[in-house]
Amino acid sequence: MRDLSAGPRVLLKRLRELMAEPLEPQERLDRIVRQIAQNMVAEVCSVYVLRSDGVLELYATEGLNKTAVHLAQLKMGQGLVGTIAASARPLNLSDAQSHPAFTYLPETGEEIYHSFLGVPILRTGRALGVLVVQNKAQRNYREDEVEALETTAMVLAEMVATGELKKITKPGLELDLSRPVTIEGNSYGEGIGLGYVVLHEPRIVVTNLLNEDTEHELQRLAEALGSLRISIDDMLSRRDVSMEGEHRAVLETYRMFAHDRGWVRKLEEAIRNGLTAEAAVERVQSETKARMIRLTDPYLRERMHDFDDLANRLLRQLSGYGAKLSAADFPNDAIVVARAMGAAELLDYPRENVRGLVLEEGAVTSHVVIVARAMGIPVVGQAAGAVALAENRDAIIVDGDDAKVHLRPMADLQRAYEEKVRFRARRQAQFRALRDVEPLTKDGKRITLQMNAGLLVDLPHLNEAGAEGIGLFRTELQFMIASTMPKAEEQEAFYRNVMKQTAGKPVTFRTLDIGGDKVVPYFRAAEEENPALGWRAIRLSLDRPGLLRTQFRAMLRATAGAELKMMLPMVTEVAELKSARELLQKEIERQSKLGEQLPRKLQFGAMLEVPALLWQLDELMAEVDFVSVGSNDLFQFAMAVDRGNARVSERFDILGRPFLRILREIVRAGERNNTPVTLCGEMASKPLSAMALLGLGFRSVSMSPTAVGPVKAMLLALDAGRLNELLEAALDDVKSDTSIRQLLVDFAAANGIPV
Ligand code: PEP
Ligand code: MG
Repeated sequence: MRDLSAGPRVLLKRLRELMAEPLEPQERLDRIVRQIAQNMVAEVCSVYVLRSDGVLELYATEGLNKTAVHLAQLKMGQGLVGTIAASARPLNLSDAQSHPAFTYLPETGEEIYHSFLGVPILRTGRALGVLVVQNKAQRNYREDEVEALETTAMVLAEMVATGELKKITKPGLELDLSRPVTIEGNSYGEGIGLGYVVLHEPRIVVTNLLNEDTEHELQRLAEALGSLRISIDDMLSRRDVSMEGEHRAVLETYRMFAHDRGWVRKLEEAIRNGLTAEAAVERVQSETKARMIRLTDPYLRERMHDFDDLANRLLRQLSGYGAKLSAADFPNDAIVVARAMGAAELLDYPRENVRGLVLEEGAVTSHVVIVARAMGIPVVGQAAGAVALAENRDAIIVDGDDAKVHLRPMADLQRAYEEKVRFRARRQAQFRALRDVEPLTKDGKRITLQMNAGLLVDLPHLNEAGAEGIGLFRTELQFMIASTMPKAEEQEAFYRNVMKQTAGKPVTFRTLDIGGDKVVPYFRAAEEENPALGWRAIRLSLDRPGLLRTQFRAMLRATAGAELKMMLPMVTEVAELKSARELLQKEIERQSKLGEQLPRKLQFGAMLEVPALLWQLDELMAEVDFVSVGSNDLFQFAMAVDRGNARVSERFDILGRPFLRILREIVRAGERNNTPVTLCGEMASKPLSAMALLGLGFRSVSMSPTAVGPVKAMLLALDAGRLNELLEAALDDVKSDTSIRQLLVDFAAANGIPV
């Protein structure tokens, strides 16, 4: 047998020439397979391309019956070719017919060939087709021949990806690359976004596949690896990577991989076979990805992801640029698609152009998700495979209501969504028209409508939504998206900025509510069995008085001369409030001693989230200037259902008798003590439950910005007095078990109230 060690180089050189020639696609493919067959001393060389209907169609062959081209086909997973595509792995067989998956296609005349070597045509881990060589004699293809064929397959992958083969694809059919895909994930942000894919970590498209000078490419690889290792060492030695933190663990893994001999050897081998350094990285990366997609062990997957990230970094080193889309190329309606990303990275995008976010990972509590929600864009997380399946500028729909991502949607689906979006826009316009209308119920009750916020990106919503102020400012969000603890000056500057942007409208700052599911990376407490019932919020603040005092100080200074309204989360006993107030008093005294200006007015409040407070209502109200019900937590603790556990969180109705009776007690205590009571949980964001609140006697609520319009539309049509009579009677009636939710729905329908 001929020595093939020089083979791949010669072959790739010939292929490069063929790619450059002005040929029709079929002609080019035919010549490519002939060239490969010749070079590999094979009697047969065939290319199968995967269509969007899951069929692998013979696109070109040397050696099999030419009449079978575009006729012979196999389903994904069927036959040897289908097996290779489905597994994204090569098959090297000395006697193909004895393989259990072998399927005989009579039109090809392939029965006389015994040995068979097939490799997947891969791009970013996806199989786009299969490349096969066959020989009559029984033989085993050597490792270097497998390697050579895999390298050659990259050239074909490029041809498929550039869309060149579309011209020779049968009318009405499409290649898999442009197949519509629907991915089911988790909804982390409601709404619908239509637009075009922007890959957060842009794939460096390697167009220069074949090398001219192996030594030069090896040298380039060595240099890029060197810089990569230095940059990782740099990151590791930076002060802000805490010694214990997860960042460090990830970087340590990167460092280990960057020195991994096996990986480097594979890269060098691919260059020796004729690829450029970039193409070599892409090849090895594609194989890793193909393997990664099928891994189920989460730990191994994570490690493979690390390898993938590292390969991306290396590609960027080699190509010398980040290949981020330039501002001019950035679509007006961008949907950012990422495996995972940092919150700050999302904020780097032009905000008005980003219409949605798709993450392969992420959780409701991920920082990037918090920021995306604050920006008001739909988010779908846990969207498996999204990055590999998407190409920059593909059409895409993010359905945050239904937790789905539609990639390259079919025309009718696209139209249906466009209609949905138009409908929403019309409704939004109707709500906007209500922006300056005074929130008076039909029977003349003045309702205060405020919104919840936590980041600067939230603040533009204040005027857009027509909210009267911010009823809940979650200060922990600033802490959650930072990589290190925000310093006193940073906190102060942040609050000052909030005050400036809200331009005189009231803001209720809530002190730090960390712990529980609100994780702050640089503030690690011991693992807790029940974090929701653990060391969190005011408990943590009182145990770390320095933290709380710093925050008080920042708030006092930022609101000097204006009104400071603050409240404390998760209060269980009135005594906790007293301790917090003492700390606040110390800060006030300190400020005045220093001759610094104090706020013109101070309002000190408590969140009512822990049921124990229900039996201290009068003491509580004597202690504070106002009370704000955190219905999310109060419901969780009252009903003993974890708010983050979808299996139980909706098990009991928030509009059921027990919870409404609790809320009624709170309203009555407020009236009795002349203490303003408001509610700032999700309950206020839904028109039907907001209507129930007004029926119970609440006159102030705070909700997500998008809810202000719908809630206002509801209350303008509501006779709160009549609903109050109805609700009081229903709650007093201990014999009836009729649903209060139904009663509310019927009331709204009978009175034309939009809920
Ligand atoms: C609540 O618990 O209802 C609340 C508003 O606070 P958070 O959702 O931030 O816990
Ligand atoms: Mg809460």
